[in-house]
Amino acid sequence: METTTFNPFKKAASLLSDRLLHSGSVLDVRHWAGAGMTEIDLHLPEADMRQWQDVPYIKFRVGPFTYRDYTPFGWDADTSTCSLLIDTGHHGAGSDWAKQLMVQDTVQYLKIDFTRQSPHPTDLVVGIGDSSSLAHLLALRQLTLPQSRFDGALILNNPAQAELLRDYFGVQLANLRDQQQLVEWLAKQPFCEQHSRFYITGGNSLVSSLRQELRANGFRQIRVKGFWE
Ligand SMILES: Cc1cc2nc3c(=O)[nH]c(=O)nc-3n(C[C@H](O)[C@H](O)[C@H](O)COP(=O)(O)OP(=O)(O)OC[C@H]3O[C@@H](n4cnc5c(N)ncnc54)[C@H](O)[C@@H]3O)c2cc1C
Repeated sequence: METTTFNPFKKAASLLSDRLLHSGSVLDVRHWAGAGMTEIDLHLPEADMRQWQDVPYIKFRVGPFTYRDYTPFGWDADTSTCSLLIDTGHHGAGSDWAKQLMVQDTVQYLKIDFTRQSPHPTDLVVGIGDSSSLAHLLALRQLTLPQSRFDGALILNNPAQAELLRDYFGVQLANLRDQQQLVEWLAKQPFCEQHSRFYITGGNSLVSSLRQELRANGFRQIRVKGFWE
């Protein structure tokens, strides 16, 4: 006979976290063919997107007691809609959650916060990231006005991601295979030490070693945010 143990603390914690959650609904889901990337359009009626001046992130409930942060981009404050781009090329609670979402599903999130990555008002804004950073770079570009001040590069092990990013969003960022290629690319760019601002996101090891590399090359205006271990 199957027995289940009632754990009052777990039950209370679950009830409490459920009361703190906000809800939204899935408007559309697109799995980028062969790219390990899932694009999700959301309606978040409780979010005040007019306040989104820094690149935001949303802490979604992706399973029982399990939360993951994802970056909204392409938001429209009038309709309370936005999109996500989730790297689904690996197995993980967040990746698996994104892959099974369907139109009209309800999503739950704990909070919306900011990465403190607001684009400088006049300097060149250089966004650098990996496959988990596509949405972040799109949001950074959305907040950079005029968008001609935005430049950047991505380290992607799946070339289809860069192609689809260009086809769907008209974003032409340098697409590099690894960090070595990125360092070579940086050395060739005419970035001025005084008037270039770097915004680096992605896996923790990439983010910290890139910051060291840029500092060694005399750049001081660098903002970083590690996304995953
Ligand atoms: C502020 C913020 C914003 C973020 N925005 C986004 C976003 O817009 N899109 C997005 O995809 N992610 C984003 N992330 C990362 C996201 O929150 C998760 O950490 C990531 O999706 C991994 O979660 P998971 O449950 O799928 O994998 P986990 O269960 O955390 O990890 C499973 C395994 O997969 C590896 N792994 C995790 N991520 C990757 C990856 N991208 N590539 C290769 N291996 C990986 C881990 O090292 C681990 O071995 C953001 C993180 C932060 C902090």
